[in-house]
Amino acid sequence: MSFRAIRVVSDEAGRRAETVTLDESDLHEGDVTVAVDYSTVNYKDGLALADKGIVRTYPLVPGIDFAGTVESSAHARFAPGDKVVLNGYGVGESHHGGFSQKARVSGDWLVPLPAGLTTRQAAAIGTAGYTAMLSVLALEDAGVTPESGDILVTGAAGGVGSVAVALLAKLGYRVLASTGRPETSDYLHALGAAEIIDRTTLSEPGRRPLASERWAGAVDSVGSHTLVNVLAATRYGGTVTTCGLAQGIELPGTVLPFILRGVTLAGIDSVQAPMERRIRAYDRLARDLDLAKLESMTTVVGLDEVPAVADRILAGQVRGRTVVDVN
Ligand code: NDP
Repeated sequence: MSFRAIRVVSDEAGRRAETVTLDESDLHEGDVTVAVDYSTVNYKDGLALADKGIVRTYPLVPGIDFAGTVESSAHARFAPGDKVVLNGYGVGESHHGGFSQKARVSGDWLVPLPAGLTTRQAAAIGTAGYTAMLSVLALEDAGVTPESGDILVTGAAGGVGSVAVALLAKLGYRVLASTGRPETSDYLHALGAAEIIDRTTLSEPGRRPLASERWAGAVDSVGSHTLVNVLAATRYGGTVTTCGLAQGIELPGTVLPFILRGVTLAGIDSVQAPMERRIRAYDRLARDLDLAKLESMTTVVGLDEVPAVADRILAGQVRGRTVVDVN
C-alpha cells in the first residue's frame, strides 16, 4: 500500500525536500503503525527543512508531530482503531515523522488522544501547544498563581505564545503579550491578552542588570536579550520558563535576578519529557484550552504547502498554529 510523504534527501545532487510516494517498507522500525490524519508545522520543522541542524539521518520524512488512528499494533497499550498523538522523541529528526500519510513508531512514544479532543485539535495543539502547557505546569509547580501578579508571554503571536496566552487567560491570569507584530493585537486580545507589549522594548541589550519589577512570571520562547530583559523585570520570587530560541540561543545576562530577587528560571523540554508528564499536560489541555480559541489560531494547509510555511515560520511570519492535512 503506497502513501504520500515529504522526504528530505541529501545526495550528489544536493539536499532537497520532495513530495514522494512511499510504501511500508520505507518506514522505520516500530511496533505501532498509524494512519496519520494531521501533522503540524513547528519552528523546529522550519529548521529541519532549512537544513539548520535538526535532521540527523537521510533520507528522512520530517514532521515532529502527528495525530491519527492506529492501523496495526504489537504494543500492549494500543490496538487498531485507537486515536493517538505523537510529539517529539526524535521523530522528524532521526526517525521518519509526521509529514506523511503513514507513520511507524514505538508505542512507548504515543499518547492516547484524551477524551474531548479530535485528531485535528490535537494537531492544532501540536508540540508548540503541548510545550505551552508544560510551561504553564512549571509556573504552577513553582507556586505562581493568578494572585501572584501579571504573567508575560513573549513571541505571543507564534505557536507556543498563542496557546500560552489562551491557557493562562482561561486559568484567570492577567496576561501581557509581547509581540513584534502590532497587527496581531486584536487577535491576541481575543485570545485573552490584557495588554500588548512591543517586543522591541525587550529585544535590545538591557542597560541595567535589574529593572523595575513588572511581572510575577513569564513564558518565554524567544531567548537571547529578550529572556535576559524578562528576567531583569521579574518580581521578587517569580518564575520564568524558557523553551525557545526564536531570537537566539545566547543568554547574555547576569546572575542578579537570581541572587538578589530569588527569581527561578525553569527549563522546558518537550522532546524527552516523561510519558506521565505528557499525559498530565494533555489532560490539562483537554480541560483548560478553549477550543474555540484554538480554532481561531489554526490555519490548515496541505502537504505540498509545507515547505513554504516552513520558510515563513523561520521568518517569524506565521501566526498561531499551522495544521497539515496530509490526506
Ligand atoms: P513560532 O515561529 O510560531 O513563534 C515564535 C515567535 O517568536 C514568533 O512568532 C515571533 O512572535 C517571535 N520571534 C521570532 N523571531 C524573533 C526575534 N528575532 N526576536 C524576538 N522575537 C521573535 O515558533 P514556535 O512557537 O513553534 O516555537 C517557538 C520557539 O520555541 C522556537 O525557538 C522553538 O524551537 C521552541 N520550542 C521549543 C520546544 C522545547 O521542547 N523546548 C518545543 C516547542 C518549541 P511575535 O511575532 O509575536 O513577536
